[in-house]
Amino acid sequence: MSFAGKVKEELLGQMGKARHCQLAELAAFFAVCGQIYMNEEGECQVKFVTENLTVAKKCYMLVKRVFHIVPDVSVSGHHQYSLFLLEDEDARDFMKAIRVQEYSPFSVECIGQKACCNRAFLRGIFLTSGSVTDPNSGYHLDMLLGFWRLWVFLELRQKR
Ligand SMILES: [Zn+2]
Repeated sequence: MSFAGKVKEELLGQMGKARHCQLAELAAFFAVCGQIYMNEEGECQVKFVTENLTVAKKCYMLVKRVFHIVPDVSVSGHHQYSLFLLEDEDARDFMKAIRVQEYSPFSVECIGQKACCNRAFLRGIFLTSGSVTDPNSGYHLDMLLGFWRLWVFLELRQKR
């Protein structure tokens, strides 16, 4: 396993004890790999798609812990993991908790001002998009994000 893989395995076991921190990490997962679907009847579903098994596992654990619901899981293609909140009520509870609406861009407002939540959010961003090399071979940390997702990240930094 790569050094970054080991770090991510370690981060899998680190979870904020407070609900606000758990939500902040879930918000990071949603910001990077979450989607909202709405059918013609106006019923919502939330979906997370990732190729990272660690992210899929942690997302599953957090949804169970925070919302007391078990997400539907499917694996397709080459290690593509999908987690679904299929029930409209569950999807809306989730959206309300991280303060996201159907047609609005994701906002970091859900994270609040607490340092603990910022840490949890960054942990989630790192798990989904980050890489780090072994410090013994020259320290290097990357987080690769798409344009608007990068904006979310930068906005968070400006709030500090
Ligand atoms: Zn917190």
